[in-house]
Amino acid sequence: MASPDAEPSIFSRIVAREIPATIVAETDRIIAFNDIQPQAPVHVVVTTKTEQYRNVGELAAGDPALLAELVAVAGRVAAEHSSGEYRLVFNTGAAAGQTVFHVHAHVLGGNLEEGTLAAR
Ligand code: AMP
Repeated sequence: MASPDAEPSIFSRIVAREIPATIVAETDRIIAFNDIQPQAPVHVVVTTKTEQYRNVGELAAGDPALLAELVAVAGRVAAEHSSGEYRLVFNTGAAAGQTVFHVHAHVLGGNLEEGTLAAR
């Protein structure tokens, strides 16, 4: 869990409209926006409005219904922006490339290479 006196994450600042983002989907508890440094023709970040969970494992353990909602929103985003075919990536930990410790999925789509999972 994030410590209560921590600074808001960059994604919480997007949720609060303190910094701009191209928002492509939103529900009461989930928000999705274009990644600022896209790694694929379609690259959307789907995240929880709460920053209570740092990664997908914490979210799965703490609020599985919210994880299911995140995955559902990711699927809708992919249906709208990527013909419904997409890769869903959750980085967990700095060594796995995680830079924002506020659980999020990357929806990647559009002519992805076969045989590799590396996006960078
Ligand atoms: P990760 O490396 O898995 O923690 O993913 C964090 C992602 O957030 C990276 O792909 C960044 O490009 C993206 N990102 C960081 N800041 C912003 C922002 N202000 N707007 C949109 N995407 C962002």
